[in-house]
Amino acid sequence: MDQSSIDALRVQEIAPRGHFINGTFHAGETGALHEVLSPIDGQPLAHIAEGSPADVSSAVHAARTAFDDGRWSRMPPAGRKKVLLKLADLIEAHALEIAVLGVRDNGTEINMAYKAEALSAAATFRYYAEAIDKIYGQIAPTSHDILGLVHHAPVGVVGAIVPWNFPLMIGSWKIAPALAAGNSIVLKPAESASLSLLKIAELVAEAGVPDGVFNVVTGRGSVVGEALALSMDVDIMVFTGSGATGRRLLEYSARSNLKRCYLELGGKSPNIVFADAPDLAEAAKVSAAGIFRNSGQVCVAGSRLLVQQDIYEEFVAEIARHAKNFRVGDPLDLTSQIGAVHSLRELEANLDFVTKAEAEGAERRTGGERILAETGGYYMAPTVMAGVKETDNLFQNEVFGPVLAVTPFKDEDEAIRLANATVYGLAGGVWTSNLSRAHRMVAEVRTGVMHVNTYGGSDLTVPLGGVGQSGNGHDKSLHALEKYFDLKTAWIKL
Ligand code: NAD
Repeated sequence: MDQSSIDALRVQEIAPRGHFINGTFHAGETGALHEVLSPIDGQPLAHIAEGSPADVSSAVHAARTAFDDGRWSRMPPAGRKKVLLKLADLIEAHALEIAVLGVRDNGTEINMAYKAEALSAAATFRYYAEAIDKIYGQIAPTSHDILGLVHHAPVGVVGAIVPWNFPLMIGSWKIAPALAAGNSIVLKPAESASLSLLKIAELVAEAGVPDGVFNVVTGRGSVVGEALALSMDVDIMVFTGSGATGRRLLEYSARSNLKRCYLELGGKSPNIVFADAPDLAEAAKVSAAGIFRNSGQVCVAGSRLLVQQDIYEEFVAEIARHAKNFRVGDPLDLTSQIGAVHSLRELEANLDFVTKAEAEGAERRTGGERILAETGGYYMAPTVMAGVKETDNLFQNEVFGPVLAVTPFKDEDEAIRLANATVYGLAGGVWTSNLSRAHRMVAEVRTGVMHVNTYGGSDLTVPLGGVGQSGNGHDKSLHALEKYFDLKTAWIKL
């Protein structure tokens, strides 16, 4: 990856593609388009098709037909593996092009996007491709005159809805295991970050995934997403996004066919620093990256920093120093460490959190303002708010931006109580030299992911998912495959 290749890609025209249905791109029933602005400079970047319920219906019909006739669902796993491995190779071959395209509509810094979006998508397709011909059914320990077999049957048509942050990485976490298991998919990307997933659709066809197996309908959540989640012919929904939309999906399920909904939602993850942390300087550096990378637009971001009283002032000063030193700027400039906030709406919401926190008595130690406004882009200075109380808005609610809430604690009991004092339960961290305490904290802090003396591990081999109002599904690892299969029991009289 070098700057001149990035600069050549960043000016490429982006022609409207339409929806990807039954193996080809279509303008859609109404032909309407949705303008996408770039967070880099606030300028119009592209137009995507504004989908309608009729487009969703065509895509679901194509997916159902493909599933029922077995062109993919009954292909031997080794056959699906071959196609998905080819897709992984194609993604890798186009990695920079895909990464730049994604940065242009979502604003993630290119150093991160190249690895976390394009290369990680290739790795995800490869992982599930490699896994799928190693999964066996079971023979139950029944009596000798009857055989009980447990089969893994693909669920059928998967509806997938993904957010604007890391659309390709999160999309691949859903598309790859769903396809590997033999299902068909209709995917709805976020209206403001669809471009990289539309490029994947092109590569899916080139890799040899049969027509109708993978479909993308772009457009608004309240139209396309709702129609997909209300469809009587979609068997499960897999979703990453906000809790508010997650709740809607459960309602749509109840109003339609009771489809299972797997939800990956928001977080307000506690990162807990004890005075006996092995290396406080390292803790401050990693914790700062753990909240500020991608402008805080990371679901597992350590957005609540709980610091033991004895080291509170010194640690907050160190975090603020790191926050000030980050180079925030054009996400397609290789020297930028932090890129843009995704949209003007998100930027304004972030600033509003700061204003309300100050009104509630928190102290702004650094940041709190829009920067680089002359570029037209949406940039915000990494922000540290100290003295945030348990009852404060900033303590309880997800910002999904570069705003850190810092709260002091006295001892382990108070740290656990504060860590568990929100409705969320996605991720957390603890910094301590005390091994017993580390184990106790992992057990007692209610989250799906805990870090000890680090923050932000991202390997594909472990599950990612939350508890409480952070969701109920898991992406990544072999566990993620479970939701794309139904268990089917067969009794065979001998
Ligand atoms: P969002 O809920 O607004 O949108 C997510 C998707 O849902 C988009 O594609 C949107 O168009 C669609 N949608 C919106 N309204 C809909 C409706 N009525 N019916 C169906 N679909 C609808 O969330 P967002 O702002 O795009 O994403 C940010 C949120 O995602 C944050 O809360 C973040 O924490 C969360 N997130 C969670 C994880 C995780 O793994 N737990 C990962 C990344 C992001």
